[in-house]
Amino acid sequence: MEQRKKAIVIGAGFGGLSSAIRLQAKGFDVTLVEKREQVGGRAYQLKKEGYTFDMGPSLITAPFIIERLFSLAGKKLSDYVELESLDPYYRIYFSDGKYIDYNGNAENIKSQMACYSQRDADRYDAFFKDIKGVYDAIITDGLGAQPFMSWGSMLKFAPQAIKLKAFLPVYSFTAQYFKHEFHRFMFSFHPLFIGGSPWKAPSVYVMIPYLEKVGGVWFAKGGMYSLVKAMESVFKEIGGTVRTHTEVKKIVVEDGVARGIELENEVLKADCVVCNADIPIVYKNLIDSKWRKKWTDKRIDKIHMTMSCVLLYLGVKKQFPQLKHHTIVLGSEYKELVKDIFDRQIIPEEFSMYLHAPTKSDSNMAPKGCESLYVLIPVPNLKSGIDWKKEIEPFTNKVLDRLEEKMGMEGLKDNIEVMEVFTPDDFKNKLNSHLGNAFAIEPRLMQSAYFRPHNRSEDIERLYFVGAGTHPGGGVPGVLLSSEATDKCIVEDFNL
Ligand SMILES: Cc1cc2nc3c(=O)[nH]c(=O)nc-3n(C[C@H](O)[C@H](O)[C@H](O)COP(=O)(O)OP(=O)(O)OC[C@H]3O[C@@H](n4cnc5c(N)ncnc54)[C@H](O)[C@@H]3O)c2cc1C
Repeated sequence: MEQRKKAIVIGAGFGGLSSAIRLQAKGFDVTLVEKREQVGGRAYQLKKEGYTFDMGPSLITAPFIIERLFSLAGKKLSDYVELESLDPYYRIYFSDGKYIDYNGNAENIKSQMACYSQRDADRYDAFFKDIKGVYDAIITDGLGAQPFMSWGSMLKFAPQAIKLKAFLPVYSFTAQYFKHEFHRFMFSFHPLFIGGSPWKAPSVYVMIPYLEKVGGVWFAKGGMYSLVKAMESVFKEIGGTVRTHTEVKKIVVEDGVARGIELENEVLKADCVVCNADIPIVYKNLIDSKWRKKWTDKRIDKIHMTMSCVLLYLGVKKQFPQLKHHTIVLGSEYKELVKDIFDRQIIPEEFSMYLHAPTKSDSNMAPKGCESLYVLIPVPNLKSGIDWKKEIEPFTNKVLDRLEEKMGMEGLKDNIEVMEVFTPDDFKNKLNSHLGNAFAIEPRLMQSAYFRPHNRSEDIERLYFVGAGTHPGGGVPGVLLSSEATDKCIVEDFNL
C-alpha cells in the first residue's frame, strides 16, 4: 500500500489552518507548527477578568468562502459557529461629527448620502454596477483563487483588467463617481482594512463594498476566535496534528527541494512545506541564501510592507450608545492621514480610529453592563524608526482623550478595568512580522497577482506559501482564497 505523503504547514493563522485542512482532506498527513501558545496568528484572542477580545480581525465577509472550506473536509460551518449578520455593517463618523450607518441597502445609503450631495447619491447605482464587474472577475470567475505563476497568466487577465480599470488606484476609481470627500472615503477606504493605501492599491480592491453588499457583514458568536477554534477542531477531527509553542528555525532544502523543517532540537521530514509565516522573514531567516536566486536579501529589502497599527483592548465598566458593533472614526484629513502613514511615516496628529464593540451583538463578551472594546489606530510600520517604547504612553493617552472629547465617551478613562496595548513592536516580536507590519505585503499594483510572491516558491521546489503575503492578499477572505490557489499548485505538482 502506498504511504501517505507528509506535509508541514508553518504558522497557524487563517491561511495555515486553511491549507492544513485542505491538505489533510486531500490525503496528506499534515503537521501544523505554530510558534505561539495558541493557533490563530493575527486572529488571536485575549481573555482577562471576564472580558473577551478578538485581537485582530473582527469583521466576517464572504462566509461562502469559509463554508467551502468546511464542506471539503466533510463538515458544515453552521455545526461549529453561529454567524449573525450585522446591520449596519459599520457606523462611520466623519470629521463634522455626523455619521452614516453603512449597510448594503441602496436606498438607505442613498438617502444618507443625499444629505451631503444629491449628485453623489445619484451616482451610487453606477458605481455598484461597475464594481460588480471587478467582483465577478475576482470571485465569480475565480481569479482570486487562481495562482498567477507566469507572465502568460497576467497577460491573459490584462485586457479584462484594462476594461475594468483594475489598474487605477482605488481612490482614483472612486473619485470618478463621487465628489464629496466623505463619499470618496466611504467607498475607497477598504484597502486600509488590509493595510494598503487607497492611493496605491489597485482598484481590484474596490470590489469590497460589493462583496459586503451581496454577502453581508457577519459576526461569529463568541468572537472571531470561535471560527479559529472551529477550524482547528475540523483539522484535528480529520486526523491533523497541531504543535503549538514550536518555532521553526530552518526549512531543510536538499538539491533545491524542500524536505522538511528544523525545530529547536528536532528535524521533521516532509514531502512538501507550506509557509504561512511572513514571507520576507521566511526567505531571509529560514532559508539559506544559496537556494534563493529570485528572492535574494536585496530583493526582499525592496518589498513594501503594509502599515502597522496600535491596538488598545479596553474592558470598560460602562457601555457607550454612540458605538455600533463596528465604528469608524475618520480624522479631519483623509489624504494627509494616508500620507503620514505611508509617505511621511510619522504618527498622524489627526489619526483615524476603528472601534470594535462586540458586546453590541454578544453580551457574553464582557461582564454584565460592561463593554469589551478594541480601538485600532493605523500607524506606520517600523521602517519609520518610531520608538514605540517611548511613544506608546503619550499616544494611548491622546487616543483615550480623543474618544472622550470627540466621541463624547464620557467617563471612559475612569471606568477602564482592563487595558492591554499591542504595538508594531508586538507584531514584530509576537508574530515574526517583517518591520512590524500588521497586514503583510502591501497591496499595490507592482505587488499584486504575478508581481506578488507566488503561491509556489519560484526558488525552491515543494515549497509553497499561503496567507496574506501571497496571492491574492490580506483579509480573511483573501487569505482563504490564497489557500485555494496554493492547493491548485500542490494538486498539480503531486498529480492529485
Ligand atoms: C488588527 C487587525 C484587524 C483586522 N481586521 C480584519 C477584519 O475585520 N476582517 C478581515 O477579513 N481581515 C482583517 N484583518 C486581516 C486578517 O486578520 C489577516 O489578513 C489574516 O488574519 C492573516 O492571516 P495569515 O494566515 O496570513 O497570517 P497570520 O495570522 O499572521 O499567521 C501567521 C502565523 O505564523 C506564525 N509564525 C511566524 N513565524 C513562525 C515560525 N518561524 N515558526 C512557526 N510559526 C511561525 C505566527 O505566529 C502566526 O501565527 C485584520 C488584521 C489585523 C492585524
